[in-house]
Amino acid sequence: KPVVIVTVGMAGSGKTTFMQRLNAHLFQNQEPRYVMNLDPAVAKLPFQCNLDIRDSVNYKKVMEEHRLGPNGAIMTSLNLFTTKVDQVLNILEKRAVPDPENPSRKPVKTILVDTPGQIEVFVWSASGTILLDSLASSFPTVIAYIVDTTRACSTSTFMSNMLYACSILYKTKLPMVVVFNKTDIQDAGFAKEWMTDYEAFREALDGDENKNAFGGQDGGSGYMASLLNSMSLMLEEFYSHLKVVSVSSVKGTGIDDFMDAVKEKVHEFNTVYQPELDRRR
Ligand code: GDP
Ligand code: MG
Repeated sequence: KPVVIVTVGMAGSGKTTFMQRLNAHLFQNQEPRYVMNLDPAVAKLPFQCNLDIRDSVNYKKVMEEHRLGPNGAIMTSLNLFTTKVDQVLNILEKRAVPDPENPSRKPVKTILVDTPGQIEVFVWSASGTILLDSLASSFPTVIAYIVDTTRACSTSTFMSNMLYACSILYKTKLPMVVVFNKTDIQDAGFAKEWMTDYEAFREALDGDENKNAFGGQDGGSGYMASLLNSMSLMLEEFYSHLKVVSVSSVKGTGIDDFMDAVKEKVHEFNTVYQPELDRRR
């Protein structure tokens, strides 16, 4: 069965650029793939896709007709698209097996899904949930959580990002690979260290300018420091379930590592998540 890779991440983290890089990588390896764009508001896509939400809903028109702002229009577009989820799954199922009428077309091995710039619209909406659940009930599905490494360097921004990843894992209940992106401008070594070595993170906390926020004094620990401290303990458990890779979507480094991580997570999907999904159904 083909594997579904869904990119999620904060606006500007590089989801679309990462998709483009993955697509190019699979193309080079002559791996048959199927690319879906679920961002109705994207102006220009840097890759060719097989299924584009923009072909079935007109974001600008939705905005005018329903008198909505940008986020409301993205949400409504996604809702309209979700009414066709059966058709989408039908297409995907067909592409996953050999086509008797077109024997030269190989079955798709990877399905790439790009999501709207604003993460909330997809992860925290009913239609996003329906789309994701439908995909996961048909194919092994892995979440690629994209982090802008340049915006996760301080202990507090790092922590916020990881808590967000944690909430998405909790919400989607799907295996996740954390992708530290933009490593051409900011190395992700610090992040990997913080995620594996609790002492290293504590040391970094000591140097953090925010540690005295909310009533802390020099030498004493403020509310912020103790909050960060307890949260990092909680996150230790979370980290142990994660696969972490660093990539540069612009330069193309780290993509092999990512594909290896996906393989591992697909195995996890089949052995842990799939039985759980079957039980819930
Ligand atoms: P999205 O909103 O998550 O889809 O983000 P985009 O893919 O549109 O990227 C946002 C910005 O980050 C663009 O200006 C990209 O060129 C830039 N970007 C994405 N990936 C990388 C990367 O690996 N390195 C660098 N330096 N910039 C990147
Ligand atoms: Mg995008």
